[in-house]
Amino acid sequence: MNVKLLAVTENAEALIEYAARVCYQSTGRCQPGTSEKFLQRLISQGHESPLEHAYATFHISGCSRAMTHQLVRHRLMSVSQQSQRYVTESNFEYVMPPSVADKDKNEYGKDMEVVRAMYAKWKERGLKNEDARFVLPNACVTEIVISANFREFRHIFQVRCTRHAQWEIRQACCEMLKILNKKAPHVFDDLLPLIEKCGGE
Ligand SMILES: Cc1cc2nc3c(=O)[nH]c(=O)nc-3n(C[C@H](O)[C@H](O)[C@H](O)COP(=O)(O)OP(=O)(O)OC[C@H]3O[C@@H](n4cnc5c(N)ncnc54)[C@H](O)[C@@H]3O)c2cc1C
Repeated sequence: MNVKLLAVTENAEALIEYAARVCYQSTGRCQPGTSEKFLQRLISQGHESPLEHAYATFHISGCSRAMTHQLVRHRLMSVSQQSQRYVTESNFEYVMPPSVADKDKNEYGKDMEVVRAMYAKWKERGLKNEDARFVLPNACVTEIVISANFREFRHIFQVRCTRHAQWEIRQACCEMLKILNKKAPHVFDDLLPLIEKCGGE
């Protein structure tokens, strides 16, 4: 899986601080270095709506549709995903869960070959991509571009960077958290311990 940051709001922390200070009529107190404590206080007080002024966009590729099916449940996120109608899956690649034992890897691969043959058979019988895809597995590799504001990213990380989340969405979200933490540490660093708690992915 590859997780790539495509875009992020420039000077996100300063923007959030400015927006929030408008509430308190204290924008004159925005100075280099003032955002750290200010943002921490906003978050600890649950005053999170100013975080909605900053956005990020990620391109996640080499992941399974099992993972993206979970990710797209987050309703405040914007999504563009590889189509299984306009793009053929004749040579689909697949994700192999780490739980597949070494001795079973060949068998798993053979099962995927069987599915490829099923897909080809239904295409030969005249089905369109949109119907032939009904025989495809959740393991199918896909790619997706997602955008969300920082408040929504914090929510996603809180529920997906934990051991309760499935391993692949956890990996994707832990990676996004690490990347966003470099861009806006005072918005995300209180969430970093989640990564350690769920096994350091
Ligand atoms: C460990 C885990 C297991 C899961 N298992 C299942 C499962 O078995 N079956 C299943 O169907 N789903 C499952 N889910 C998905 C889960 O139910 C949510 O659909 C998903 O996590 C999206 O989260 P959300 O609704 O909190 O947030 P988002 O859609 O990201 O929205 C963010 C926040 O906005 C607010 N919000 C958004 N829409 C509304 C609304 N319409 N009304 C009120 N408030 C709103 C809420 O505060 C919400 O938390 C699972 C999720 C996790 C993390």
